[in-house]
Amino acid sequence: MHMNTRRDFLQKIGASALMLQLSSLTAFADAPGRITEPYEGKILRVAIMGLGGYGTRVAEAMKACTKAKLVGVISGTPSKVKEWQTKYNIPEKNCYNYENFDQVKNNKDIDAIYVITPNALHHSQVIRVAKAGKHAICEKPMALNAKEAQEMIDACKTANVKLLIGYRMHFEPRTLEVIRMRKADNFGKIMFFQAQCGFKAGDPKQWRLNKALAGGGSMMDIGIYAINGARYMVGEEPIWVTAQETKTDPIKFSEGVDETIQFQLGFPGGAVASCLSSYNINHLDRFFMSGDKGFAEMQPSTGYGPIKGRTHMGELTQPVTTHQTVQMDEMATLIFEDKKPVVPVNGEEGLRDMKIIDAIYQAVKTGNKVNLII
Ligand code: NAD
Repeated sequence: MHMNTRRDFLQKIGASALMLQLSSLTAFADAPGRITEPYEGKILRVAIMGLGGYGTRVAEAMKACTKAKLVGVISGTPSKVKEWQTKYNIPEKNCYNYENFDQVKNNKDIDAIYVITPNALHHSQVIRVAKAGKHAICEKPMALNAKEAQEMIDACKTANVKLLIGYRMHFEPRTLEVIRMRKADNFGKIMFFQAQCGFKAGDPKQWRLNKALAGGGSMMDIGIYAINGARYMVGEEPIWVTAQETKTDPIKFSEGVDETIQFQLGFPGGAVASCLSSYNINHLDRFFMSGDKGFAEMQPSTGYGPIKGRTHMGELTQPVTTHQTVQMDEMATLIFEDKKPVVPVNGEEGLRDMKIIDAIYQAVKTGNKVNLII
């Protein structure tokens, strides 16, 4: 998912372009409602802030949206703005840079801004979006810590705008099926969850390995999927955390940039989660959950897809979707219709993950078990 080596990058470009085509075909075949019933509600008009790797992926996926539309950009690179204007038919009046985007306040043709910049920028940018009176969609991790996350929530409340976090897995059909089965008691009492999330980070100069921009290391970027996954799979909030860090390359992964962290979460119902987050181990994208009546296993579990998995009842066969297309259509209804998703994607949901990340870093530092007050 995070493309860092050149070989990976090339492989994934090919695979993802193909998947985009295949998955939109599948989406149409499996969800005829998308074409036979034209959407007549309000369209969410979105400007993307940060035209990098993931911003580009979201923009491409939004072409297939029926309830959301890319109408604007915020970028520090004029050449990228020009390119996007041509590619997505974006009018000049909907283009901003990082200095002047507060003026979006006066733009009636933009409803929401999707912040897809390096982690350390999310806090101030979301607060500026809120002050401009626009809904904020923010990538994960929503902030560098729980304190910042709370300030973002407060700013959006004060401005009376919505704050949503880019948790695309919360709309993924096979993930939702496992959650449905857990709620239907198909797995019985959940006793164990395991997540392995990681990849080898390539370029040592990238912002992901820069503490000031990333706020940490693998935990901020990919370990957060294990935390979030543990919560939506088990269906409870953890009450304690223990964690251990291993660092094999202190030059590449400098002070404050975690290479590999193993962590454990304890849940009130008795379940424990055993998780691994790494920037130095490839092919880690797996969830396993065990209850006293059954199990679920997903691999890949949080990549761009197709998500694959099985339970004690058989293979998961729900439709393969383009995650970002479904996410943005769903977010339009969350913003305009006050709908509640199966798993929340609001600021409070992001804050819960940030509290756990804070606790994991504290547990690594002290070697102690950290109790969580969620
Ligand atoms: P990227 O490096 O590809 O893009 C980042 C963009 O931010 C670039 O266009 C860069 O020019 C811009 N930028 C603005 N100000 C900057 C500054 N001061 N320093 C550096 N860059 C600056 O990164 P990305 O992979 O697109 O990640 C962006 C965000 O999206 C991160 O928070 C990341 O965690 C998140 N993300 C989420 C997913 C997901 O599946 N939900 C996947 C990838 C990334």
